[in-house]
Amino acid sequence: MPIATVNPASGETLKTFDALGAEEIEQRLATAHAAFRQYRLTGFDERARLLNRAADLLEQDAPDIARTMTTEMGKPVAAARAEALKCAKSMRWYAERAPELLADEHPSDADVKDSGASRAHVRYRPLGVVLAVMPWNFPLWQVVRFAAPALMAGNVGLLKHASNVPQTALYLEDLFSRAGFPTGCFQTLLVGSGAIEDILRDPRVAAATLTGSEPAGRAVAAVAGDEVKHTVLELGGSDPYIVMPSADIERAARTAVTARVQNNGQSCIAAKRFIVHEDVYDAFAARFTAGMRDLTVGDPLDESTDVGPLATEQGRADLEELVEDALRRGATALCGGQRPAEVEGGWFYAPTVLADITAAMRIHHEETFGPVATLYRVSDLDEAVALANDTPFGLSSNVWTEDAAEVDRFERDLEAGGVFFNGMTASHPALPFGGVKRSGYGRELSGHGIREFCNITTVWHS
Ligand code: NAP
Repeated sequence: MPIATVNPASGETLKTFDALGAEEIEQRLATAHAAFRQYRLTGFDERARLLNRAADLLEQDAPDIARTMTTEMGKPVAAARAEALKCAKSMRWYAERAPELLADEHPSDADVKDSGASRAHVRYRPLGVVLAVMPWNFPLWQVVRFAAPALMAGNVGLLKHASNVPQTALYLEDLFSRAGFPTGCFQTLLVGSGAIEDILRDPRVAAATLTGSEPAGRAVAAVAGDEVKHTVLELGGSDPYIVMPSADIERAARTAVTARVQNNGQSCIAAKRFIVHEDVYDAFAARFTAGMRDLTVGDPLDESTDVGPLATEQGRADLEELVEDALRRGATALCGGQRPAEVEGGWFYAPTVLADITAAMRIHHEETFGPVATLYRVSDLDEAVALANDTPFGLSSNVWTEDAAEVDRFERDLEAGGVFFNGMTASHPALPFGGVKRSGYGRELSGHGIREFCNITTVWHS
């Protein structure tokens, strides 16, 4: 994949970049390693000062970087601005909370004595240079949710961003540099995915985090496993959105539209499979389909657009294949099911609702990365849980119910890293984020996220 900005709303290549050569990569690895040796000695106050400064700059830059993101990957520009501001907020959150999240831990006196020590504690020390392999879909947020905690913990970062968002990738390096982080604390490597193996095998790289598809995760984890290096993987999702009879159907249907089409449908935590109890199926399906049909598809730089283009031509082709396979095998398109008639050029796809889904269809098992929803009818809670779990993924899940007994059952039985009731899945710095099964392992955000890239050190005194 060439490293280039290609506007998905027009298909036009706006800017291309040369990948770094071996010498430049070596220089950046050396710079990162040298930076870590010094940066690890800084205190929380200094790191927080720098991170808060980065947050200030990002807030000022939000309108401009939002337009850059939209031009590179097609998200509606208002959502791009909101993403920039969320990043700034999360930087501040970690700047403030890191000291408490990484405070020394003290076992009880009885346990200390039992271990044979006169005193003992646990200290969170940084790991070193962390490689971050990131996707294009939230080009700022995916990076910041790694970088903010990693930098507060005293690590330094090397970013290999997706090849279609090079300007956003370079902006991030510039942002941390302008904020005053010492040279080498955060560097962007403009390289293709083929360069990752050697970088990851380099002894100066301590660990890696990858957000992206399952094949990319598997490739990076295989190399990291061979090198015995820690990884966090945030991979795909096919989150269920379950609607039970006690739910507020109007609100559930309205939220379902947003949950499915946020980020033009290209979000790992978008609700993708809508599993609806038969008692409310018709009412939900009618409202949900009307909401999807009413969305404005068009230029993502236009403030009134709800759904922009898919980020890549290949992404749209993949989505079309899934929909065509489903229709061929008996699915019914309640709306959409094709490219939208009202927009020309670019990689647009009409918001789509597919009903009559069966397990024989690819779409039943695979992730739909675009504005396409699948709709299922179930007769009871057990069937809803079984269907929700009938996926290789386990990122998050959504349930609409007012019944306390049902809440308990779903909380106990849904195989996912999150269960969101009467709302849609969203990330927040205070809440852990990550999945099970093929959605990956490890957690980002919260105390769990910042401790992923720490050397959890036992300090014991006789
Ligand atoms: P992708 O193709 O896997 O790319 C993600 C990153 O991995 C890019 O930087 C890519 O570089 C790199 N990459 C690809 N193949 C690689 C390999 N064999 N070795 C090393 N690096 C490799 O994914 P995407 O299309 O950008 O993003 C969509 C996927 O990400 C979806 O499945 C989505 O659900 C998932 N995602 C998950 C989360 C989460 O938090 N769980 C969040 C967002 C997205 P190039 O661009 O140079 O190929």
